[in-house]
Amino acid sequence: MACPYLSYRESADGASFDEARAYCGAAERFVQPMRADVCNDRFELDHAEDCEIYAEHASDDPSVPDPTGAPEAEES
Ligand code: SF4
Repeated sequence: MACPYLSYRESADGASFDEARAYCGAAERFVQPMRADVCNDRFELDHAEDCEIYAEHASDDPSVPDPTGAPEAEES
């Protein structure tokens, strides 16, 4: 499963392209092609384990599932 921060855009931040490119919503910038392999979990890569940007943002973002698979804490 691809990273939840990944999307494909034709433009952002003043840059625009003829075809949609991988865009990281966590870093708010376009993703380099080699990084996109991590974003898409290609070649046995895993965004949850191999991307420092994901690790940094996911721990602070309640809308992203816990990368460790730990159950969510119940609110009281
Ligand atoms: S894997 Fe990393 S670089 Fe790619 S979309 Fe997710 S947080 Fe961004």
